Amino acid sequence: SNHSAASDASSSRANFYNLLPAREDHGKCKSRFEQHRYGKRDWEYVPSEYLIDRLRSYEEFHARCTRGNSQTWFNSSTATENNDCKFILWLDNSGLGNKMVSIAATFLYALLTRRVLLIDPAEDMEALFCEPFPRSSWFAPRDVPLEFLRSDEFRISFDKCHPGTAKFARHAYIEIMNGYDSIGDKFFCEKQQQNISDQFPWLTITTNLYFVPSLYYVPSFRTELDKLFPRQEAAVFQHLVKYLFHPSNAAWDRATRFYDTYMAGSSKLVGVQMRVLPNFQDLSRRAQSFSDAMVQCLLQSKLLPDVSVASNSSASGKIIGVVVASLDGQYFDGLREIYVSSPTVDGSLVRVFAPSKERWQQTNDRNHDEKALADMLLLSFCAELVTSPGSTFGYAAQGLGGVKPWLLNEKNCSKLDSTEPCFHAKVFYGCNCDSSSEAKSVQNNARSCPDVPWGLQTS
Ligand code: GDP
Repeated sequence: SNHSAASDASSSRANFYNLLPAREDHGKCKSRFEQHRYGKRDWEYVPSEYLIDRLRSYEEFHARCTRGNSQTWFNSSTATENNDCKFILWLDNSGLGNKMVSIAATFLYALLTRRVLLIDPAEDMEALFCEPFPRSSWFAPRDVPLEFLRSDEFRISFDKCHPGTAKFARHAYIEIMNGYDSIGDKFFCEKQQQNISDQFPWLTITTNLYFVPSLYYVPSFRTELDKLFPRQEAAVFQHLVKYLFHPSNAAWDRATRFYDTYMAGSSKLVGVQMRVLPNFQDLSRRAQSFSDAMVQCLLQSKLLPDVSVASNSSASGKIIGVVVASLDGQYFDGLREIYVSSPTVDGSLVRVFAPSKERWQQTNDRNHDEKALADMLLLSFCAELVTSPGSTFGYAAQGLGGVKPWLLNEKNCSKLDSTEPCFHAKVFYGCNCDSSSEAKSVQNNARSCPDVPWGLQTS
């Protein structure tokens, strides 16, 4: 009947076409069951059968390898029962957006290399997100010796053109942090990846970046990536985010309560994420002009109607909601002032909201991070997004919403054709140490990012 066809459709939307595992625990993690009701209704990129199969078998693998006493599985390479269990432990030291993009990348790396992903238990991720993998936890046990694992003696260094590793040990440590420059480390090379896989059941990674574009450099990874994401463009991050990040009830309730109270009645929703980063000095020196540029962008793109003192068009009944997320209140103040001081030319009403007023970054303060996540979610519920360059906070929002944003640069504002984050890194080398010609061919799979010229984006 029509009724069951409709409910089938809504249940496939609810678990994102089987991307998510079947779950019973409705109360514990409401966002998992309610997320599809907010934001975009249609799912532009349906997950491949292959991705779904790999996720289901990953979940089994994760549960099996993390069962029982952590001391046992920590030493798993010697325990015959868990012989095939290898691990990658993610450590971080950055803001929420950086955490999300780098966990997504690390999880994809874990899928490609058949490792179990574990998350640093010291961070407040537990308060922010639900467990993504059924019947198990993604948090490393508290007795895992983090400091020991991240010590310099385990650091991988593939010395220039010689594919050797630092020490003969069972652990290796890698850092892929802001400004990552891979020259001399060759992490994204086939032979080196083979060595890592053969030698190190434990890999510890400190990262705050979305290094997925460079995973495409490794030929065997690329083959697998093409199967996982046959429509590679614009789809990798969205799938990973939808799969991994389900806000905890506290963060979810904050966001949905705000939405229901202030945003639900709008005919159109626009999200604006304003962040001026130190790498973009020109912008920060001219914050005022960035605010003007934001207004220009919203008007020229026709996301918002213009205003005019002379306007006498009658109320159209149309209400446009604008969510402004920023640590700097001037963007919200300026925009709201425009719409309370003059009528719009088309008679619509523009409601401008600022869900939080945090002023400065307080990463790992529970309450602050919960507001940050709620801001990301509220942005992701909007049909249109304007983001600022280089911000992983904005990347996370566009990934959660599956929305291709308008990117506001100093000079212009244009709609992007992808929701993929940028890998803020300089990866210019060839794996066989035949520098220039190889470096070029390696870059064929990636392009430079629209927001960060020195970065790489999956093309
Ligand atoms: P990035 O530095 O822009 O790449 O993003 P991150 O999320 O990694 O770090 C910025 C941090 O600053 C966020 O995690 C928040 O803690 C805070 N922050 C930045 N912009 C906003 C915002 O619009 N709203 C809120 N609530 N916090 C923000």
